[in-house]
Amino acid sequence: MRQRKRINVRGIVQGVGFRPFVYRAAHDLDLAGFVRNTTEGVDIEVEGDKKRIEQFLSMLQGKKPPAAVIDTLDIHTVKPRNTRRFVIRKSTRRDGFTHIAPDIATCEDCRRELCDPEDRRYRYPFINCTNCGPRYSIIRETPYDRAQTSMASFMMCEKCTNEFKDVFDRRFHAQPDCCAQCGPAFVLYALKHMTFAPVDPVIAAGRLLRRGSIIAIKGTGGFHIACDATNTQAVRRLRQTKKRPAKPFAIMCTLPHARTVAYISDSEEECLCSPIAPIVVLRKQGSRISDAVAPHNPYIGIMLPYLPIHYLLLEIVPFLIMTSGNIQDEPIARDVVEVKGKLGSIVTHVLTHERAIENRCDDSVGFVFPNRGFSIIRRSRGYVPSPLELPDVVMPVLALGPELKSTFVLASNREAYMSPHIGDLDNLETLEFFKEMITKYQRWFRIDPVCIAHDLHPDYLSTRIAADYALPQIAVQHHVAHIMSCLGECGIHDRAIGIAFDGTGYGLDGRIWGGEFFVGDLIQQERVAHLEYLPLPGGDSSIRRPYRIAIAYAAVLCDRIFKPGGVSRKEVCSVLTMLKDHRSTIETSSMGRLFDCVAGMIGLVREITYEAEGAINLEYCAVPRISGRYRYSLIEDEPLRISVAPIIEGVLADLEKGVARSTIAAKFHNTIVQFSLEVVQRLSTLYKTRLVCLSGGVFQNRRLLVHLVQELEKAGFTVYTHRRLPTNDGCISYGQVIYAHACRLKDKQG
Ligand code: ZN
Ligand code: ZN
Ligand code: FE
Repeated sequence: MRQRKRINVRGIVQGVGFRPFVYRAAHDLDLAGFVRNTTEGVDIEVEGDKKRIEQFLSMLQGKKPPAAVIDTLDIHTVKPRNTRRFVIRKSTRRDGFTHIAPDIATCEDCRRELCDPEDRRYRYPFINCTNCGPRYSIIRETPYDRAQTSMASFMMCEKCTNEFKDVFDRRFHAQPDCCAQCGPAFVLYALKHMTFAPVDPVIAAGRLLRRGSIIAIKGTGGFHIACDATNTQAVRRLRQTKKRPAKPFAIMCTLPHARTVAYISDSEEECLCSPIAPIVVLRKQGSRISDAVAPHNPYIGIMLPYLPIHYLLLEIVPFLIMTSGNIQDEPIARDVVEVKGKLGSIVTHVLTHERAIENRCDDSVGFVFPNRGFSIIRRSRGYVPSPLELPDVVMPVLALGPELKSTFVLASNREAYMSPHIGDLDNLETLEFFKEMITKYQRWFRIDPVCIAHDLHPDYLSTRIAADYALPQIAVQHHVAHIMSCLGECGIHDRAIGIAFDGTGYGLDGRIWGGEFFVGDLIQQERVAHLEYLPLPGGDSSIRRPYRIAIAYAAVLCDRIFKPGGVSRKEVCSVLTMLKDHRSTIETSSMGRLFDCVAGMIGLVREITYEAEGAINLEYCAVPRISGRYRYSLIEDEPLRISVAPIIEGVLADLEKGVARSTIAAKFHNTIVQFSLEVVQRLSTLYKTRLVCLSGGVFQNRRLLVHLVQELEKAGFTVYTHRRLPTNDGCISYGQVIYAHACRLKDKQG
């Protein structure tokens, strides 16, 4: 029986080899019809034998290209047209706009060719195909055609051209397709003399690494700094020169090797092996890699090789540190000039090539949250610039995000185009990068914003950039953005209780918030409970020295003089004086600072060397099987306040009794879970909702996150956490879009 079906596919289906796949499937099954890209995704019509159409439909799901992600598949029966051929039709975009695919890790087929001495691309480090290779990082202009990418300067040879034109070839329309005859090649320089290595550059680089050298390697969206992760001396040297004494490094190795250094569950393996190939934070095991890679840390960040060059290098050095080629939070280096200028004191050699990196992009990072999938910490390579779905159709808006872990979003209709992780906006180069990407996104995605959303903080650089646009501005409270972002990405329109546990965010009352409970929906959020306000002596200086917070909280809450070991009387006195005359203190309800306080109190950290080091040490210090907790009290008021005095008293008393730090840390975590649960229960009765959503940087603490979700679910609440966005400030720009949209709706109604 002859039939015709129309199929609308939505998801990541463009630039990932979906149309040729559909073409081949239809051709194999002898079906007529067409396939074409649309603004929404891909449209297919197939006509032919009923059984074969069924086969075709199951192939769409089961045999799709590895990098394609199908969100929805709408199937309608239409009238047969008695066409005979199957064709790839021109895209229906009137304005010529096409989606840009993210960079995709080297696929199995390409990896096989790379290792096959019979293949013409044997050991060619730029091997790619329709299913894999660079996309976002090489594009200059849309639509995505070779001439508009940094592959433009490489003339395709005859063999490659034939593959490119052949619809049955797995390189059909693979824009960056190339081979050793026509494509780029690696070169190795000694940075000091800018001299070439005479032998095979890849093997020479591998040998240098094996001997303990630190070298810069050009990757997808920037340079990596690489060294042998089993060589403690090399790792220490890297820490010293990169001025990164303690923050863990991620490593790269193959899956069999990864199993020897970390525990890997099935779902973790799935994330590691996905075409995104992110850094997955895993539980460490064994002692094959140097302790200096992630000191005092039960976890290790691992990514699998995702470029052909990585496979070639790992054959020589099986465990590589691959850290972003930047200094602290500056943008990642993308050419040899930047490597010389910025990384000259860190690396001795640079392994590079002449295909330009058009758009910077760091590696993405995350961990697997049991039963909830991959929880993103940094959303970059492999994700950007794929749009995120919005819960509603919005006006064109540009949301500038916060100050740290900066991202922006350009949104229109139901799509939010989020920038890659850009870093901390407090330096000039990051700011330039930020502005450059905004301009590019506006051009690529053809969105002309009609308003600008920014953080409420008056001193953030992103807030000041907002003033550069002659457009209406909407200031968004930081934690409202957190909660709306979580509700929005989960598509929850109902009223929910929102918990925002965070480091720092400018509050509506001009104080620093960060331990907040909200009730509300995608239109309105009301702050209904928070941690009590406490003074932060010397502002930022006490964030760097958590023991100062410990001195302050002990004095204010317990009327006690707390003298941390190794801290001079003079410093203690100066903190106390600051508190007394309210000089240079700011008030905060931040949960991050409460973690800092306890970490400082039990002596886990003196001066922090990276963000949230105190809180992170506190998490890792806590032993699992401790069920005790500290007292706390709730102060009836509007909003409800959580008094932390009994907690701090409890910690100090335990310290005096000589209770182990690991026990104190565990009891502290349990206490946070307990009072959060109690506050939620109260709010639930008051505001009649059983939905809870969690957002904020503090929820990167896995112990806290897992326990709190468990307890809330046990009590019958439905709990939403971030899935497509980070729970840290990487989600703020998305939340700002939703808030800006809500303002417009309210304006319309008002
Ligand atoms: Zn491939
Ligand atoms: Zn070629
Ligand atoms: Fe935040």
